[in-house]
Amino acid sequence: MRCNYCEWRCELNGENYGICHMYWEEGGVIKERFPNRWCAYSMSSIESIPFYHVYPGSRCMTIGTAGCNMDCRYCANAYVAKENPAKLQAQMYEFTPGQLVRMAEKLGCHNIVFNVNEPTVSLPSLQEMALAAKTAGITMGCLTNAYMTEAATEIFASVFSFINISLKGLAPDFCRSYLGIPDSRPILRNIARLAATNHVEVTTPVIQSVNDHELDEIASFLAGVDREIPWHVFRLLPEHKMKGTTYPNVGDINTILERNRKILPYIYFHNFIGSDWVNTLCPRCGREVVERISLGCGGDRLNHCHCRENMCPECGYEIRMYGSRVYWNSREGAL
Ligand code: SF4
Repeated sequence: MRCNYCEWRCELNGENYGICHMYWEEGGVIKERFPNRWCAYSMSSIESIPFYHVYPGSRCMTIGTAGCNMDCRYCANAYVAKENPAKLQAQMYEFTPGQLVRMAEKLGCHNIVFNVNEPTVSLPSLQEMALAAKTAGITMGCLTNAYMTEAATEIFASVFSFINISLKGLAPDFCRSYLGIPDSRPILRNIARLAATNHVEVTTPVIQSVNDHELDEIASFLAGVDREIPWHVFRLLPEHKMKGTTYPNVGDINTILERNRKILPYIYFHNFIGSDWVNTLCPRCGREVVERISLGCGGDRLNHCHCRENMCPECGYEIRMYGSRVYWNSREGAL
């Protein structure tokens, strides 16, 4: 029986658990091998995930499982994503989705974000969690590679209110050599689909001399989908099989992003200390409407949100935002 969660469409039977090792077939049904098993639950500011246009200043519970359907040569979480999930189970936490939601409430979290490995490989547990989270008034988001089927994309649209999709590159050669997939077309299709109904931000990790020449084309594609999609360009410090690769040149990428700001007003450039590309500018008058601090390596924080009801205080332009400013300690009932 073929799995219908991601574009690999693996044939599952007996001990064949697919490329991600996370599903199996029983009685004509595709099931999770390790439901309710989590590699992490911790707290983070939403800016450091990164989501820059979702409940600024809010407190997230971040979670993950094990396994992935891609094979990125530079993966920073390969110790969880690329290890055989069966070998990791002794170190995993076991909680029902309802228990995790109750912990998020006690910890004063405003939202729950799946951000360690790929959520497509644990979708049934996340569907169950979404029901419990909705009852508790907690929104859910995720980071994903979006290499999923159209059917799974519909599940994503119902489970996650906000989604950061990693668009790592476009060319088939790059996809085969660096990501372990045949091409990027399903990812582009899914970005357009999800952006039509959900809040979507996109992240592109840049590898010096490997995919930096594609930044103009990626910006054009995103502007064609929706020119107000927030686009995070991430200065990649490669790990896993690419340790030792040259770090991207900040000046060169600055030049590329500066010209693309004309077609995509919400561009950000992360992962080096002191970036001045972490603030949001009003697309109409250019005023700084949200100020952030970049500590490098995903350590971004909200500094000041000048918006009034998500409007630019200077010209009144409505800034793209899912939810509005939230204070870190604002959730009632928190410990
Ligand atoms: S989710 Fe896993 S088992 Fe299913 S098709 Fe993708 S890689 Fe294969």
